Amino acid sequence: MYDIIEKKKKGEELTAEEINFFIMGFCNQKIPEYQVSALLMAIYFKGMNHAEIAELTIAMANSGDKVDLSEIKGIKVDKHSTGGVGDKTTLIVAPLVAAAGVSVAKMSGRSLGHSGGTIDKLESIEGFETVLSREKFIESVNRINIAITGQTGNLVPADKKLYALRDVTATVDSIPLIASSIMSKKIAGGADAIVLDVKTGSGAFMKDVEKAEELAQVMVKIGNKLGRRTIAVVTNMDQPLGYAIGNTLEVIEAIETLKGNGPKDLEEVCLVLGANMLKLSGQDEEINSLKNKLKELLTNGKAFEKFREMVLNQQGNVELIDNPEKFKQTSLKIPVKAEKEGYITSIKTESVGIASMLLGAGRENKEDNIEFDVGIIIEKKIGDKVSKGDVLAWMYANYEHKAQAAEKLIQDAYTIGKGQPAQSQLIISIVEAKNS
Ligand code: URA
Repeated sequence: MYDIIEKKKKGEELTAEEINFFIMGFCNQKIPEYQVSALLMAIYFKGMNHAEIAELTIAMANSGDKVDLSEIKGIKVDKHSTGGVGDKTTLIVAPLVAAAGVSVAKMSGRSLGHSGGTIDKLESIEGFETVLSREKFIESVNRINIAITGQTGNLVPADKKLYALRDVTATVDSIPLIASSIMSKKIAGGADAIVLDVKTGSGAFMKDVEKAEELAQVMVKIGNKLGRRTIAVVTNMDQPLGYAIGNTLEVIEAIETLKGNGPKDLEEVCLVLGANMLKLSGQDEEINSLKNKLKELLTNGKAFEKFREMVLNQQGNVELIDNPEKFKQTSLKIPVKAEKEGYITSIKTESVGIASMLLGAGRENKEDNIEFDVGIIIEKKIGDKVSKGDVLAWMYANYEHKAQAAEKLIQDAYTIGKGQPAQSQLIISIVEAKNS
């Protein structure tokens, strides 16, 4: 291990054998964390080329169980977001493309830190089963085209261990390490094709566009190199997506979007991601025509019907889906008001995500409990004009002290300036393999 660290310290290329040695040794507790930490820092500074990142991805994917989806008919297309605030796209895109005939066998995660997780959002629907047996998962996808489950089995243990170490050694924001972390889970998850939503901006991991595009390019290259057709869509996360943040609140907004009445930014990101999923599943049409096809499924009720079918199939209470006003409500609804007049020029989106976590919608630590009903509804977004005293956002809370902490963060997250800012682009770019 000493020699491997030394080699990377000098910026040299590691071989497949060396990468495997390090991953296996770390997982088997033969290599101590201090040596792995040193290597992570060397990778952080010296980087890795595509061949090394591909080898790291394979070694990580091979560190635990792999999901075999071969019993599911057709091309299985997965979708993954690098994480954002108010990002409820999976709740919409999965049933939307399933309604268009694509098999969606989706494994999702829970919230951590400022960003939410699909499994928590789904669990806010009373009764919704998020631990599906392999048999039920496969049978559901074959019968109704869709199932969403939490991660089962021992999937990519190397990532869990490495991520914990990266988190305390300031090596999370490294492109080779993020790319291998995400792609190893996608490869082990068994999909044939992958659409990645790479977020950029104040609420994303990758705050600047150049870095996000570089990450997108790397992941697309690795995915294709490993035999999975992969497309990345780089999307703006300079403000929350849609208006709702928090589990139940996001489910309600997703239902509206599935009925064609959602916020335009959220709908657009879902249509673009969905159209690319249809493309990878073999529907050989122009992206705009695929988007129109999906839009039709939002307006004719088919996408919502598919979501309802999935909820029913996974034992969720569909009465809530049919009557969202029956979801449990918080005891408090508190406004955060503008302190002066002007235009909203920026929103520190990560802070808004942390505010939602402090209200109880997310977790600071893995073992924390969450409150499904709490969260934030944004009233003002970038470019909106406000007068002093206008409501910027509503906090839905159950405890006064939690709301007090969140209020300060939300207040500080908003910048109110004199001139109206230019609208930034929502879909920044679409990255595909050069020869696909
Ligand atoms: N998401 C992941 O799964 N891994 C990372 O390293 C960063 C974001």
